[in-house]
Amino acid sequence: MSESHSQPVEAHLSHPLFQNALQSIDEAAALINCDKNVLERLKRPKRCIAVSVPVRMDDYTVKVFTGYRVQYNSTLGPYKGGIRYHQNVDMGEVVGLACLMTIKNSVMGLPYGGGKGGITVDPTKLSRTEKQNLTRRYTSEIGPFIGPTTDIPAPDVGTDSQTMAWMMDTYSQERGYSQPGVVTGKPIEIGGSLGRAGATGLGAVYVAEKAFEKVGKTLKGSTIVVQGFGNVGSHAAQYAYERGAKILAVSDVSGGIFNGDGLNIPDVLEYIQTNRVLKGYPRAQHISNEELLLLPCDALFPCALEGVIDTHNAEKIKAKMIIEGANGPVTNDATRILHKKGVFVVPDVIANGGGVVVSYFEWVQDIMSFFWDEEEINRRLQGIIVKAFETGFKMSKEKNVDMRAAAMAVAVQRLEKAMLLRGLYPR
Ligand code: NAD
Repeated sequence: MSESHSQPVEAHLSHPLFQNALQSIDEAAALINCDKNVLERLKRPKRCIAVSVPVRMDDYTVKVFTGYRVQYNSTLGPYKGGIRYHQNVDMGEVVGLACLMTIKNSVMGLPYGGGKGGITVDPTKLSRTEKQNLTRRYTSEIGPFIGPTTDIPAPDVGTDSQTMAWMMDTYSQERGYSQPGVVTGKPIEIGGSLGRAGATGLGAVYVAEKAFEKVGKTLKGSTIVVQGFGNVGSHAAQYAYERGAKILAVSDVSGGIFNGDGLNIPDVLEYIQTNRVLKGYPRAQHISNEELLLLPCDALFPCALEGVIDTHNAEKIKAKMIIEGANGPVTNDATRILHKKGVFVVPDVIANGGGVVVSYFEWVQDIMSFFWDEEEINRRLQGIIVKAFETGFKMSKEKNVDMRAAAMAVAVQRLEKAMLLRGLYPR
């Protein structure tokens, strides 16, 4: 049995990710004068599940992995959150991520609680068969706790649409009938949703359009810099480009490319399809990721890693606005510095909420067995994400705080209202 397995829940609550989330919840609670009993409940996960996952490896030996599913809060609806395969996954991290999903789903106004799951494994070291065996046994082990009306997993770091297909199939096989609504992020052919692949990048662009409106500008004609050219960053760059923004620079793990006249994004996308990384792209100047973050521009989209803007570089940032495509790219301390400098930071819980919104649409379509076209999905996505932005913006003006603190306050207030209405069972 792993160490994580045998410890009581309390032992996992000191994880820095969770402690940071708790600090933000405390600050938000003070801002809205949250009920003390509600706050007490909000600061603890409802259920933490640890499972042993025995897997037949390709060499016929059996290896036992540890998997987790944390169901943090279900006041607003079924638990919802991704499944992470990474060697650093432990119960503490999963608790922290499940707490953040509770906040994100609440601020986006979705009828979901928050959950998260994962397995401590380096997926790059597994063959396809081993990854499939691992996924199926993990799904079977957490099977009694998940389902379309209880807890709906999705992809996260190290998992993808194929992983979700295996999860959906395993869950369905064990019940004897197809249950596409048990997970989201599936391939289109088995109940996935149109628009899911580009949803996070598109959502970030819808949010940027609104943010520009608030400062009397338009996305069209603005200058944009994007860090990270993966799923979120490349779609954000593409949708902003299509709307007439000038994309000055983009980057990936191999470095950044800059063109003062604006990059031709379709050309960059074509280049990356054959070359896999941006390194060597001919029609631009090559810069480092650090230089890219400090470029003067109307909006910077950090869409790669967490913590790239911290107290070391926050003062030097020349962007007028930051749209957090990645999770946690700007630290809390850096957010305060930027807010003082007048930089408008739209936090991740709103800016990258497009992914979970279209996951929600996937679940709704699976339950109805009635599928929408992409135009309808994008229109509905815009409606939800813009509403979340406007609600956060209003709170930030009312309380005179940055958008991150405001978004947190909106989320905690919604949870507080719902918890007070539902009451405590048994009383
Ligand atoms: P991805 O793996 O598709 O892309 C990541 C990109 O970042 C790649 O271009 C990679 O080369 C680049 N990168 C990696 N290390 C880097 C470094 N040191 N410097 C600069 N660039 C680097 O991942 P993704 O799905 O686009 O996710 C990016 C972020 O957005 C993550 O924080 C993720 O949690 C978050 N996010 C993703 C979604 C989604 O729907 N994909 C939704 C919400 C949040």
